[in-house]
Amino acid sequence: MKNNKIIEVDPQGFCGGVMNAIRIAKQVRKEHPKERITILGNLVHNQYVKLALSTLNIETIDDKNKTRFQLLDDIDEGIVIFTAHGVHPSLYHKAKEKGLKAFDASCRFVLQTQQIVQEKLKEGYTVFYIGKNKHPEAESIYTLNGPVFLIEKEEDIPLDLKEPIFVTNQTTMSTLDIDHLFRKIKKLYPEASFNNEICNATRVRQEAVLNLKNQKVDLLIVVGDPTSNNTNQLAHIGALANIPVIIKAETVKDLESYDWNNQTIAITSGASTPKYLTGQIINYIKTGTIHPLKIENVLS
Ligand code: SF4
Repeated sequence: MKNNKIIEVDPQGFCGGVMNAIRIAKQVRKEHPKERITILGNLVHNQYVKLALSTLNIETIDDKNKTRFQLLDDIDEGIVIFTAHGVHPSLYHKAKEKGLKAFDASCRFVLQTQQIVQEKLKEGYTVFYIGKNKHPEAESIYTLNGPVFLIEKEEDIPLDLKEPIFVTNQTTMSTLDIDHLFRKIKKLYPEASFNNEICNATRVRQEAVLNLKNQKVDLLIVVGDPTSNNTNQLAHIGALANIPVIIKAETVKDLESYDWNNQTIAITSGASTPKYLTGQIINYIKTGTIHPLKIENVLS
């Protein structure tokens, strides 16, 4: 590694919603030192965060083939924590019936979207929700009682439905994709009302990557977990910004086979990526050295 120029794309580190979820999990452990604590799915989408929580004796259960409602059947005692992505309201009731104490680490922006959709359903709207199938945030919305249509791509837009139609989206989608789908829906349903729910943390990270198109960048490293939607969207936006090479990395270990010289390397990271992991990557590009991972640093 020699003579590389590094662009640390701002912002880096956890967003407010992720910090809040981690704070809640730590606080629950502190206040209930002896109880069994289980997180229903990944608290946030990063496996190193999950690993760090397990060192506090906080277990995570997950199964991509089960809904959160089904997954709750696997917890029989102690405390359950709902993740940052929100849950269907019936989960509280089910947890109570099972005698579990429930704590909610949902991000307020996710809850806000859920509340808006519930209000619109009560008012008689049909809801188009742009999101990812089986993503927990989307699942907590498209499983609500009432006519909610999940739209992942243009072909999913239902045709010939009666107005009123309300259109909204998952908080971590690509701003460009949402603009595109909103335009398509508007053509089919001119009277539809729209509410763009992309959160600020997602928006500013995407805008920062998009702005790289004005600079000479040889490659973009996107640091984050493959299951993190906002991380994946950063890679997608990087490609749209015409950056010639995009590399996704969870940790510095994913980069050890590379040796770059005289390159301009931009580094961005998802909202659930620990700053510590991104820092290790920056250090590797600067010095060529890989320090061993210290899991206790991941949550800081
Ligand atoms: S990415 Fe946005 S919606 Fe998701 S936890 Fe962070 S602030 Fe909340």
